[in-house]
Amino acid sequence: MKKLIKIGLMGGTFNPIHIGHLVMAEEIRKGFGLDKVLFIPTGNPPHKLIEGQVSSEDRYIMTLLATASNEHFEVSDIETKRIGTSYTVDTIKELKEIYPMAEFYFITGADAILEIETWKNTKELLDSCKFIAATRPGYNMNELKSGIQKLEKKYNRQISSLSIAPIDLSSTDIRKRLKVGKTVKYMIPDSVINYINKKNLYR
Ligand code: ATP
Ligand code: MG
Repeated sequence: MKKLIKIGLMGGTFNPIHIGHLVMAEEIRKGFGLDKVLFIPTGNPPHKLIEGQVSSEDRYIMTLLATASNEHFEVSDIETKRIGTSYTVDTIKELKEIYPMAEFYFITGADAILEIETWKNTKELLDSCKFIAATRPGYNMNELKSGIQKLEKKYNRQISSLSIAPIDLSSTDIRKRLKVGKTVKYMIPDSVINYINKKNLYR
């Protein structure tokens, strides 16, 4: 029997992508022996630009630029090429058809796993693949563990967690810094900074 390839799925708005995302994806890839991590930027709501006047295409391109130097990172346009919001549960279904020989691990930060019950069809979603939650500054390990335990009990699923290097950054912080002209150097890759400057985003 052929071995399944292990693919991490890293969903996010990535508005813009920052080193918190990259560190988390790489630590989880290493820690769980994943073959690759597929970054999946979300689509934009219909007829609307998300905060910062940034299109789905811009977020997709910035994600490509940020991940280009890691041979284990890939970016999917499965959500950005669609008009409107897509739901993770549907995206995973589609990915299973595209990659029949893969085992999927959906990667989230602490904040995202703790609000997973607001996502479409939580039960079906948790049943559809493995989930790994990483620590994030502002959410302590006990808070995360007890939140995960509650979910595991309620949905009868195991959810893994990993304590990772704390990077206290968010895209919201980055957007605020760019708006007032503060530096974001070393917080996001230079290639992404160049793209933001060229397209005059987040001003
Ligand atoms: P925003 O401030 O716009 O919400 P964000 O920094 O939270 O941006 P998202 O695109 O919302 O980034 O997050 C995508 C995923 O990355 C989520 O699962 C989130 O929990 C995780 N994540 C983002 N930043 C960090 C970080 N610094 N440490 C750990 N996980 C993070
Ligand atoms: Mg967020």
